[in-house]
Parts: sequence; structure tokens; C-alpha cells
Amino acid sequence: MRVLVVEDEPHLARAVREALEVAGFAVDEALDGETGLHMAVGVDYDAIVLDLMLPDVSGWTILDRLRKVKPTPVLVLTALDAVDEKVRCLDAGADDYLTKPFEIEELKARVRALVRRGAGQAAPVIDLGGIVIDTAGRTVKANGHEVNLAPKEYALLELLALRRGTLVTRTMIYEHLWDEHDGTWSNVVDVYVSNLRSKLGPDVVTTRRGQGYIIA
Ligand code: CA
Repeated sequence: MRVLVVEDEPHLARAVREALEVAGFAVDEALDGETGLHMAVGVDYDAIVLDLMLPDVSGWTILDRLRKVKPTPVLVLTALDAVDEKVRCLDAGADDYLTKPFEIEELKARVRALVRRGAGQAAPVIDLGGIVIDTAGRTVKANGHEVNLAPKEYALLELLALRRGTLVTRTMIYEHLWDEHDGTWSNVVDVYVSNLRSKLGPDVVTTRRGQGYIIA
């Protein structure tokens, strides 16, 4: 799943990006509001971490403009620990907020929850019948036994499972699983699908030739 971090303090932006990458997300970073707005509107992110206090285009403006076109889940970072500010965030269309300074573990958990709910899956465990995905621990069990998946294999399985019953195109897979710097446009998705089949069974993912993939 792909997350955008809009934060003008370089150290904090980097810390958040690295923590989310370790947690398995593809992460893009915008260090100013104008870039952040452009990316937030232009890419279908699974969640956005948005600092409110930006030197050029403010987080408020980004939230307002984004909400006119997209329902992308937004976690706002605010420097003010005041009830008024929190109420204003939520009323402006934010889905959640964190007051600085915050614990990075809490940020990761909140982003995971937002991504799940954005996909219409409130519970952390997805049961595909025989295959059970724990999105909090990023673990997968097949018939009760834990299966070791590479990070991108897990990410692909989670993406398809969160959109269970709907066709996921190759373009969507690239957009949600790789960040802007990766540029992986070969047959790599086929390789991951093939790995998932050999680890979890041949029927785990169905290929719709020329269209994409689906977990039915
Ligand atoms: Ca700031």
C-alpha cells in the first residue's frame, strides 16, 4: 500500500517515511505544500500523512482541495494540542490526527487502520478461507501454518485481499505497491503472483488475461 507524507521538516519527514517503509508501505515524500497538493490529487494513495503547518500551501488548503475530488484517508499532524484544533481537523475532512511530538509506533498503527478502513475492511484479520492474513502483524497463515512471504509478495496479497471480488489491474498494482522512485515496470508482478501460488496454492489468485488479477 502506498502512502504520501507531506511534511516540511526534513528530519521528521524522513523518520516517518523510513518507519512506514519498514512497516511495508511504499512511501512518497513531499517537503512543501504545493508538491504535496499536486501528488495528493494526482495519485491514488491508500493514505496521506499531512502536516498542517507548511510554509507555502497549508495543510488546511490541501485537505480542502483534496476533499473536493477524493476520499483518500488523511492523518493530520498538528502542533497544537487543543480540542478546537482537533475538532477543526475532523470537520475539515481529516480522518484522524496526531499531535506532535508523537510516537512513531502510534503513527504506524493509525496509518494501518486508515488504510484498512479506506478499503472497507475494519477488522485487522482477513480470512480468505484457509488463508488468513493478519494485516497488523503482516503475517499469513495457510491451513493454520505460518507462511513466509517476501515483503512485496505480502503487499500484493494484501492489496488483492482488501479488494476481494474486484479485478485489480496491473496499473493499480504498480500504483499502490511501488513508490515514485522505484520505476519497476517489467514482468515483476507475474513473478510475485507465481510465488504466491507456489506458497499458498495454485488457486489463491486468479489471472484475468490482459486485464489483471482477482481474489474471488
Ligand atoms: Ca511543519
